[in-house]
Amino acid sequence: MGAVGALLLFVSVLIHELAHSLLAKRNGLRVRQIVLFIFGGVSELEDDPGDSSVEFKVAVVGPLTSFAIAAILWVLWNSLILVRTDVVYLAVLQYGSFINLILGGFNLIPAFPMDGGRVFRSVIWRRRRDKYTATRIASRVGVGFAYVFIGFGLLIAFTGNFIGGIWLVFIGWFLRNGSESGLMQATISEALGKTRVGDVMTTSIHTVKPGSTLKEVIDDYLLVYKHGGYPVVLEGKFLGMITLDDVKRVRKEKWTETHTQDVMTPVEKIVSVGRGVHASEALVLMSKRSIGRLPVLENGNLVGIISRSDLMKIINLKTELMK
Ligand SMILES: [Zn+2]
Repeated sequence: MGAVGALLLFVSVLIHELAHSLLAKRNGLRVRQIVLFIFGGVSELEDDPGDSSVEFKVAVVGPLTSFAIAAILWVLWNSLILVRTDVVYLAVLQYGSFINLILGGFNLIPAFPMDGGRVFRSVIWRRRRDKYTATRIASRVGVGFAYVFIGFGLLIAFTGNFIGGIWLVFIGWFLRNGSESGLMQATISEALGKTRVGDVMTTSIHTVKPGSTLKEVIDDYLLVYKHGGYPVVLEGKFLGMITLDDVKRVRKEKWTETHTQDVMTPVEKIVSVGRGVHASEALVLMSKRSIGRLPVLENGNLVGIISRSDLMKIINLKTELMK
């Protein structure tokens, strides 16, 4: 009964997430994947909803689906009671109905980025006509709820139900991180807006020759310009990138005899962007791969460099102005 109940919960969460994903797709949003993990599931959208009514629909359909599953299982459970079915089946159906009711109800708590928090954000967004303000308010409420969960969890943990309490603490912690990263994402896309890579890239680039020794790279570049990485170019042709990390992988005694071309990341392995890419996308790309800079290429030619620290400076400046 336990195994079947667990499977039923798993399938219920999956259907809940599929409902989010299907509605998102129907509204023209791309869905990257559905991730099921220990605290539940997440439908990862490729792009954020562009208007408040889409956000509302995509968020609210999850809990509604859970309520619908709860209702179906409830009807099934009660009809089987009438025909005096074995308690083994009844108990599983009752559990399934109950757990879906909890699933729908819990997700409706207005704690961004949970479903209820997204519904809440869409309502403020609609009223204020400003997504960023709505996200700020919803995130703050979300963080508030997270601390309520953590506090309540600790209380329960030390007054009897240790496992249940700690569980709630973890959910609170997870929620807090979600709220804050949601706010950060909103801040980034608000600050960078429609800015393209071409608008903010550096075009005065210091390039390294493939034949330069690491000693030369250190003395003539790393210590002089203080950037962490440089494009390697020979006769106008972009060959790769060399970074401080590449240099550090080689022992100090070998610096005078090792050449850039031997340790650089070759062009085939390099992630690059075009001028027309949104600056926020470039930033996400750099964060995901934990790299500090991207070469900007046009028809294979190097036209600029965009760095994470440059983008962070713009974001800091803009957020100061937005306050
Ligand atoms: Zn949901």
